[in-house]
Amino acid sequence: MNALPAHVLYELRPKIVERRARLEAAARRMSADYVNDLLAEIDAALGRIDGGTYGRCESCHDPIEGDRLDRNPLERFCLDHLSEKELRAHEQDLELAMQIQAGLLPARDVATRDWETHYRYQPAGVVGGDYCEIAVSSDGNSLFFAVGDVAGKGVAASLLMTHLNAVFRSLLSLDLPLTEVMSRANRLFCESTPATHYATLAAGRTTEGGVELCNAGHCRPLALRRGGAEWIDATGLPLGLFCNGLYSIRQIRLEPGESLVLYSDGITEGHDGNGNAYEEERLIHALGGGAGEGAAGMADGVLEDVTRFRGGGAQQDDITLLVLRRRG
Ligand SMILES: [Zn+2]
Repeated sequence: MNALPAHVLYELRPKIVERRARLEAAARRMSADYVNDLLAEIDAALGRIDGGTYGRCESCHDPIEGDRLDRNPLERFCLDHLSEKELRAHEQDLELAMQIQAGLLPARDVATRDWETHYRYQPAGVVGGDYCEIAVSSDGNSLFFAVGDVAGKGVAASLLMTHLNAVFRSLLSLDLPLTEVMSRANRLFCESTPATHYATLAAGRTTEGGVELCNAGHCRPLALRRGGAEWIDATGLPLGLFCNGLYSIRQIRLEPGESLVLYSDGITEGHDGNGNAYEEERLIHALGGGAGEGAAGMADGVLEDVTRFRGGGAQQDDITLLVLRRRG
């Protein structure tokens, strides 16, 4: 039986047929042997669909990884059964993706006269789907900051994350109001990605007396004040779901010494060996109320506590944490 459900095959089959048409159109300019080999590969894939063996590894008959088939519908082997050469190529792709992604992370400890920041970024695999940005405005007076989480995993998610990064970097150069940045980012993301792709995101800017914040369906940012902690609920839907999304802004007062904490669900939904989730309350506890500690101390404290909580277990999801603290 085909390894993929009928509706997925229904989407993949036209992709394979389209490859065939493109190959035929270009065939006159290419060597006949090369064209014939590719044609045979395409027809074999179509044959596997019709014969009911499509999507299964030719070596072990286990299903081939779905994201790999999506990128290459002609794939015949699972990751465990690639040839040496193919495996090396796959590893080089991952290595390159990791370097591209590392190059997109914000600088360490970005600060202005009134604000200091610190972030920790820990993908679960070689590459991650979390987005993190901290950027000083062109006049040097305010900071833009964001933490996001792209739906999905692996290389596909990391590509979407780089896309989100590019969208925001180009919008930030325009010095637009935050609501405008968010609705434009949503529209661009919506129009340039498949309908199944979206990202949750919390983004904001520092102001005179605190921050303005937009929470597009992301896990609730935490304002740590002397009087206690406050969770900031969503103010809009995730980016990429509806092209005409509306994004409202919350103004949040932060006095000197008070902080705002953004994070991804890899922290709050991380599990210990018994299946218990880390959850929001433990996060507040690990932050210790933020009293007397700098942004770096707070962020490092949480990451240590998350690792302790997980015990020896593997990290299941990407982890990002960003602490923004008003100096004073
Ligand atoms: Zn296999």
